[in-house]
Amino acid sequence: KTWHQTGLTTKILETIKKLNYEKPMPIQAQALPVIMSGRDCIGIAKTGSGKTLAFVLPMLRHIKDQPPLMPGDGPIGLIMAPTRELVQQIHSDIKKFTKVMGPSCVPVYGGSGVAQQISDLKRGTEIVVCTPGRMIDILCTSAGKITNLRRVTYLVMDEADRMFDMGFEPQITRIVQNTRPDRQTVLFSATFPRQVEILARKVLDKPVEIQV
Ligand code: AMP
Repeated sequence: KTWHQTGLTTKILETIKKLNYEKPMPIQAQALPVIMSGRDCIGIAKTGSGKTLAFVLPMLRHIKDQPPLMPGDGPIGLIMAPTRELVQQIHSDIKKFTKVMGPSCVPVYGGSGVAQQISDLKRGTEIVVCTPGRMIDILCTSAGKITNLRRVTYLVMDEADRMFDMGFEPQITRIVQNTRPDRQTVLFSATFPRQVEILARKVLDKPVEIQV
């Protein structure tokens, strides 16, 4: 498989070329066509497999078709991940593709000052990458005045098994309930234990399952 068979935009393909990513990694070759087609997707893949671009690139394509950003708008793309480090990593991967005129992305995580995150969210953003705990704190304490999830039509749960191990299940469920029911949902996990399967059955709609 080549990048040109994945249905990505010219601008994204140009960035991929600049980054010297010669061909899609196996999880990308399998997941990109599925997610680009609009289907929900479960990807069983570990860190290092290239899973991040498998859910980031279709998200950028998805956002491209949406109306321009207005002040105070909540995100269209929402990514949940278990740790601050992973949120920062995903955010930096996104930035590689959004440097010039791209959609804005706000990272939201605990263990550091909340003031900057709040002011970035209040300005309005197309993408939020978050840990579920800090996101719920922000949504609940402000009663929706800082940001809201009413526009979320592309939802990602990354490293779902680790989020469960860390006890984030209640926060994840609450966040999902606040997004749009007609959203596209993507779940990535290194393993697929029963509890993750139960969550997947609740929040994904006829998902295509991919394993590498
Ligand atoms: P991930 O599993 O998403 O953390 O990605 C692992 C690493 O592979 C990251 O450093 C990416 O920048 C890199 N990467 C992602 N896709 C490709 C590709 N198609 N070819 C070469 N490297 C890639």
